[in-house]
Amino acid sequence: MRTEGNTAEVVVVGAGMAGLACARDLLAAGVSVRVLEASDGVGGRMRTDRVEGFTVDRGFQLFNTSYPQVRGRLPLRELELCPFAPGMLVHTPEGRRRFVDPSRRPGETADLLPGRLASGRDLLALAALSARDTLAPVALVRGGPERTTRDALAAAGFSDDFVERFFRPFLSGVFLEDELETSSRMFHLVWRSMLRGTPCLPLDGIGAVPTRLATELPDETVRLETPVHSLTDDGVLLSDGTELPAAAVVVATGPEAASALLPGLRIPEYRVVTTYFHTTGRRPLDEPMLVLDSARRFLNSCVLSEVSPAYAPPGRHLVATSVLGEPGPRTEAELRAALAEVYRTDTSEWHTLTTRTVPDALPAMAPPLPLTRRARLGPGRFVCGDHRATGSVQGALASGARAAREVLSERLGVA
Ligand SMILES: Cc1cc2nc3c(=O)[nH]c(=O)nc-3n(C[C@H](O)[C@H](O)[C@H](O)COP(=O)(O)OP(=O)(O)OC[C@H]3O[C@@H](n4cnc5c(N)ncnc54)[C@H](O)[C@@H]3O)c2cc1C
Repeated sequence: MRTEGNTAEVVVVGAGMAGLACARDLLAAGVSVRVLEASDGVGGRMRTDRVEGFTVDRGFQLFNTSYPQVRGRLPLRELELCPFAPGMLVHTPEGRRRFVDPSRRPGETADLLPGRLASGRDLLALAALSARDTLAPVALVRGGPERTTRDALAAAGFSDDFVERFFRPFLSGVFLEDELETSSRMFHLVWRSMLRGTPCLPLDGIGAVPTRLATELPDETVRLETPVHSLTDDGVLLSDGTELPAAAVVVATGPEAASALLPGLRIPEYRVVTTYFHTTGRRPLDEPMLVLDSARRFLNSCVLSEVSPAYAPPGRHLVATSVLGEPGPRTEAELRAALAEVYRTDTSEWHTLTTRTVPDALPAMAPPLPLTRRARLGPGRFVCGDHRATGSVQGALASGARAAREVLSERLGVA
């Protein structure tokens, strides 16, 4: 075993959003930090690859500009954000319905007339819910009654029909579960962030977000391809046998590695999602809209090249469609049939560019859901990541920030 000398005071394990936020806050407070990352790049679950000239995120995800941590940490202009249209197209048995935010697209509200997608009563309930979640102080939204999303929607006065036609298809793509069993607090926070912000993607893919965060760390702070094998009494042991001393270690990995590095740590169940990336020469849709299916044959779909032209080479189009869980032998054939109906096009000529299955995409967030959890597990031992807060970019960043605060408190002897 080799011991490396002259290292940093704090070792952060993992360069996902949580680890990067934690490192940045510690450095800003004057603490020396080393981030050790097992893979060949920063970003964790938010990475982007180039495949045959297309931009492929590791699982379709949206970037929301209204998250407080995002606004506080990232120079949004530099990310060259490309917005989605403020709404969704919902495929129903009666045809395609356009569900837009009437305050942003007042000219496109024909399908918001009673009887098109929703009844008059559902539309009133929707207006009341949206006004409350947008305008109420965030503390009120965070501290509201805690129940399942299904119960919260019933309590808000929505009919079962509207819940099945709209909320269930939409939210299954947000929470990666289709029973509406996620915490109602999480639902209200997500609804609020959707209405207050703009879902978008960086021009060059979702990976640009963590890459931008990492550029704020001094050179040499992040060491790639350096998997941590275990924690020791004095720091960490790397997989290559090197020991790295540190006064404090922050485990900022995903759930599986966190439970291996910190035996006894309780980890929530994680949701699995698979995204199919199809390419075509024929434009399937001429706007950057999220597409939902009220029959829930998929979670959501969108033509990424309509959101950012950099996702596909000229003359080609890239469609991302997500389904719950691992793909089965019939998944793709059934998906193509559903997409043909939804996009009103022949999908038999579509080329399957690649698929991405993410086994630990999002933590389950059943009620009662603590929106934040303590990072300090013992002297010099800390943990952060979305499993310690909420399954979102906001949750990952906030938990990294909390870990940094608790490290600083311990240094001052006030932990
Ligand atoms: C398909 C998909 C869709 C999503 N959609 C959205 C969305 O629309 N909106 C939203 O807000 N959020 C979304 N999310 C969630 C969001 O991406 C995550 O909550 C967030 O990225 C988690 O960050 P993290 O830092 O907690 O963990 P991770 O990103 O998992 O980072 C952990 C890092 O630790 C590293 N690591 C693991 N083991 C070791 C080891 N032994 N040694 C060193 N390093 C190690 C990993 O390589 C990784 O880089 C989505 C996620 C997925 C996958």
